[in-house]
Amino acid sequence: MTIFSAPLSISPIHAFDDNLIWCLNRKETDHVVVVDPGEAKPVIDWLKTNAKRLGGILITHHHGDHTGGIKELVDYCRTSYGQAPTVYGPQSCLSKGVTSVVHEASQIHLKTLGVTLQVLFVPGHTNDHLAYLMNEESNQPAAVFCGDTLFAAGCGRLLGGTAEQMFDSLNRLAALPPQARIYCAHEYTLGNLLFAKAVYPDSPAINERLIKVQGLRSQNRLTLPSTIAEELLTNPFLGCASAMEFGHLRQAKDQFRSN
Ligand SMILES: [Zn+2]
Repeated sequence: MTIFSAPLSISPIHAFDDNLIWCLNRKETDHVVVVDPGEAKPVIDWLKTNAKRLGGILITHHHGDHTGGIKELVDYCRTSYGQAPTVYGPQSCLSKGVTSVVHEASQIHLKTLGVTLQVLFVPGHTNDHLAYLMNEESNQPAAVFCGDTLFAAGCGRLLGGTAEQMFDSLNRLAALPPQARIYCAHEYTLGNLLFAKAVYPDSPAINERLIKVQGLRSQNRLTLPSTIAEELLTNPFLGCASAMEFGHLRQAKDQFRSN
């Protein structure tokens, strides 16, 4: 595999109201890989602006706001430079355009980016949910693209998976190295922290993060990526002792209104 001197960049591409399509790219190569393109247009605009080609797509789960842009992007690549990107994802997404089915323990070698990803099966939000883990390298900490499983200060709703599955999946992610970066698919941090504060009103870490995040959001800036260390301190869903406790907390969040 090619050794690159500059670190990999992971750039956010905004889609819909609060979706983030993460784009893995490097200065030295014109190939990029995107995660969960729910929409094609913002990705195509990014490719044109940055003079890059789409070499691959990673899909975490079947929801339309994560898969809706696949077909248009594949058509765009075929038309523009005669080559379709490889689309990695779960078996359930074959009809949405996945061309390379991956599952727990699959390894993906993104040769043009010099990156290897490990696939984790993390059901709970849906029963087909995958995460893509980039292990620590010499010049950068680990990163995980976890879709709608773990959010900054929160987690995805149970829309097909069970509380037991989500509890296990979150514990798995929580056991990653503390410095691992969390690239989730939505900017939900502020709403999640308001819930966290309602559950743990006296937590200094939650209060401190809430102030920081309110500041960032008031300037329309992103609060992501987060880190496992930050989540262990401030994410109420990582503090549950059992799947039952997790299930109750998740139900409370589903009904929570911050105002
Ligand atoms: Zn989803």
